[in-house]
Amino acid sequence: MKRPARIRVLGKQFVVSFVTSDAAGLRDSPDDNDPGMGRCDPETQSIFIREGQPIESEQDTVLHEVLHAVENAMGLEVDEERVTRLATGLLAVIRDNPGFVRYLATKGKK
Ligand SMILES: [Zn+2]
Repeated sequence: MKRPARIRVLGKQFVVSFVTSDAAGLRDSPDDNDPGMGRCDPETQSIFIREGQPIESEQDTVLHEVLHAVENAMGLEVDEERVTRLATGLLAVIRDNPGFVRYLATKGKK
Protein backbone atom coordinates (compact mmCIF):
# COMPACT_ATOMS: atom_id res chain seq x y z
CA MET A 1 0.00 0.00 0.00
CA LYS A 2 1.22 3.44 -0.92
CA ARG A 3 1.63 5.71 2.08
CA PRO A 4 0.94 9.42 1.63
CA ALA A 5 4.05 11.60 1.45
CA ARG A 6 2.11 14.86 1.38
CA ILE A 7 -1.42 15.78 2.36
CA ARG A 8 -2.97 19.11 1.48
CA VAL A 9 -5.07 20.62 4.24
CA LEU A 10 -7.07 23.72 3.33
CA GLY A 11 -4.43 24.84 0.85
CA LYS A 12 -1.43 23.97 3.00
CA GLN A 13 0.86 21.13 2.02
CA PHE A 14 1.77 18.93 4.98
CA VAL A 15 4.74 16.59 4.64
CA VAL A 16 4.06 13.17 6.14
CA SER A 17 7.03 11.30 7.64
CA PHE A 18 6.97 7.74 8.92
CA VAL A 19 9.48 7.61 11.75
CA THR A 20 10.79 5.35 14.50
CA SER A 21 9.66 5.81 18.10
CA ASP A 22 12.88 7.66 19.03
CA ALA A 23 12.33 10.38 16.41
CA ALA A 24 12.29 13.94 17.73
CA GLY A 25 9.29 14.73 15.54
CA LEU A 26 7.03 12.56 17.68
CA ARG A 27 7.81 14.57 20.79
CA ASP A 28 6.12 17.75 21.93
CA SER A 29 9.41 18.86 23.51
CA PRO A 30 12.96 17.46 23.78
CA ASP A 31 12.26 16.12 27.29
CA ASP A 32 8.97 14.50 26.34
CA ASN A 33 9.60 10.85 27.26
CA ASP A 34 6.24 9.60 26.10
CA PRO A 35 6.02 10.00 22.32
CA GLY A 36 2.61 9.35 20.85
CA MET A 37 1.75 7.33 17.75
CA GLY A 38 1.74 10.49 15.71
CA ARG A 39 2.17 14.23 15.90
CA CYS A 40 1.07 17.18 13.80
CA ASP A 41 3.18 20.32 13.76
CA PRO A 42 1.19 23.06 12.02
CA GLU A 43 4.11 25.50 12.31
CA THR A 44 6.31 23.44 10.03
CA GLN A 45 3.40 21.77 8.22
CA SER A 46 4.70 18.38 9.25
CA ILE A 47 2.96 15.20 10.27
CA PHE A 48 4.96 12.45 11.94
CA ILE A 49 3.64 8.89 12.11
CA ARG A 50 5.27 6.23 14.23
CA GLU A 51 6.46 3.18 12.33
CA GLY A 52 5.46 -0.33 13.34
CA GLN A 53 1.73 0.15 13.89
CA PRO A 54 -0.69 -2.31 12.35
CA ILE A 55 -2.00 -0.74 9.13
CA GLU A 56 -5.46 -0.09 10.58
CA SER A 57 -3.93 1.81 13.50
CA GLU A 58 -1.56 3.68 11.22
CA GLN A 59 -4.44 4.85 9.02
CA ASP A 60 -6.34 5.95 12.11
CA THR A 61 -3.27 7.86 13.31
CA VAL A 62 -2.77 9.61 9.95
CA LEU A 63 -6.42 10.72 9.89
CA HIS A 64 -6.13 11.80 13.53
CA GLU A 65 -3.15 14.02 12.73
CA VAL A 66 -4.93 15.43 9.68
CA LEU A 67 -7.87 16.35 11.92
CA HIS A 68 -5.41 18.23 14.14
CA ALA A 69 -4.20 20.08 11.02
CA VAL A 70 -7.81 20.97 10.13
CA GLU A 71 -8.48 21.97 13.73
CA ASN A 72 -5.50 24.31 13.65
CA ALA A 73 -6.24 25.74 10.20
CA MET A 74 -9.83 26.55 11.19
CA GLY A 75 -9.00 27.94 14.59
CA LEU A 76 -10.93 25.25 16.43
CA GLU A 77 -10.08 23.84 19.79
CA VAL A 78 -11.02 20.21 19.94
CA ASP A 79 -9.81 18.16 22.86
CA GLU A 80 -7.67 15.09 22.26
CA GLU A 81 -10.40 12.63 23.18
CA ARG A 82 -12.79 14.10 20.60
CA VAL A 83 -10.13 14.16 17.88
CA THR A 84 -9.46 10.48 18.62
CA ARG A 85 -13.14 9.55 18.45
CA LEU A 86 -13.81 11.62 15.33
CA ALA A 87 -10.88 10.05 13.49
CA THR A 88 -11.99 6.54 14.38
CA GLY A 89 -15.62 7.26 13.44
CA LEU A 90 -14.77 8.98 10.16
CA LEU A 91 -12.34 6.24 9.20
CA ALA A 92 -15.05 3.61 9.74
CA VAL A 93 -17.44 5.53 7.43
CA ILE A 94 -14.68 5.98 4.82
CA ARG A 95 -13.79 2.27 4.89
CA ASP A 96 -17.40 1.16 4.64
CA ASN A 97 -18.34 3.51 1.80
CA PRO A 98 -15.77 3.70 -1.00
CA GLY A 99 -18.43 4.96 -3.44
CA PHE A 100 -19.38 7.73 -1.05
CA VAL A 101 -15.71 8.71 -0.70
CA ARG A 102 -15.40 8.92 -4.52
CA TYR A 103 -18.56 11.03 -4.61
CA LEU A 104 -17.17 13.42 -2.02
CA ALA A 105 -13.81 13.65 -3.82
CA THR A 106 -15.41 14.49 -7.19
CA LYS A 107 -15.03 18.13 -8.11
CA GLY A 108 -17.88 19.87 -9.88
CA LYS A 109 -17.55 21.23 -13.41
CA LYS A 110 -16.38 24.78 -13.66
ZN1 LIG B 1 -3.94 14.03 18.88
